[in-house]
Amino acid sequence: MKKLSFVVPCFNEEESVINFYTEVTKVFDGKVEDYEFVFVNDGSRDKTPEILKAIFERADNVKVVNFSRNFGKEAAIYAGLQNSEGEYTCVIDADLQQRPEVVLEMKDILDNNADIDCVAAYQGERKESKTLIFFKDKFYEIINKLSDVELYPGASDFRLMRRPMIDAVLSMSEYSRFSKGLFSFVGYNTKYIPYEVQERAAGTSKWSFMKLFRYAIEGIVGYSTLPLKVASYAGVGLMGASVLYLIIALIVGAAVGEITGTIAIITLILFIGGLNSLFLGIIGEYLARAYMQVKHRPIYIAKDVLSYEDKK
Ligand code: UDP
Ligand code: MG
Repeated sequence: MKKLSFVVPCFNEEESVINFYTEVTKVFDGKVEDYEFVFVNDGSRDKTPEILKAIFERADNVKVVNFSRNFGKEAAIYAGLQNSEGEYTCVIDADLQQRPEVVLEMKDILDNNADIDCVAAYQGERKESKTLIFFKDKFYEIINKLSDVELYPGASDFRLMRRPMIDAVLSMSEYSRFSKGLFSFVGYNTKYIPYEVQERAAGTSKWSFMKLFRYAIEGIVGYSTLPLKVASYAGVGLMGASVLYLIIALIVGAAVGEITGTIAIITLILFIGGLNSLFLGIIGEYLARAYMQVKHRPIYIAKDVLSYEDKK
């Protein structure tokens, strides 16, 4: 059994993977005797697979899982964890925004504290645009209010976990994955440490605002059924309000001698119609996930897996 595994999701990272590999090797060689890399090539359309293959051929501690297409970072993390065998396993990005020195710090904490199962890093000082920070903070506020899992603001997937916790995460094979939620859901004792996010070493972020927005919806819908219940509360509220409105309209109508409020009625119809489709939409979000889950689709499909174990 290896002491430590790096699980590295890679999507179009031709400019970063070599640097990542050399930097980690520089920091870890001589300090940790027995560690491995599990690179997951998430359907990259650039030279990433060739570069990973070259690294695999030269090194004796590298595994490469090649996806048949882009399945997304969540699926890549799942495949990486499945193929890792370290007593400690670290999820880390390929772009060196997360320094390998921090992993050494995490390892020290696990080595010296038997009661801690996971060390997760959160961004001490944020280096993103103000708008993005605003939306991300709002997301944490909403999800922490709505759901039963507690998400630590600013914490990413960057963390080092003991094997039992990895096994627990792997035992949850749901199709719509949201790792931060899964890590929190499985429990275990997590310590949060601040770290400084580096500028991306090369290339650009693989997340667009829309991709992040969909990811946020994934997190909320995946961990809270409150939006579903809100629909029924609002329905009951609206019915009450309209009965009240009817009574008032009848009284006023009787006093004036004619039925008034045509405009109000049109407004109400539109309002309720709008709400109806909103709630249908919310139900649709959940139904879509249930539908994907009952199909039992695989979370990812690997074309091939290169492992140093097969070299021996
Ligand atoms: N990534 C992936 N599949 C995707 C998108 C991203 O495997 O569909 C990987 C990417 O190669 C990187 C990590 O996920 O190693 C984080 O992505 P990125 O650095 O673009 O995100 P950011 O740091 O901007 O949040
Ligand atoms: Mg990055």
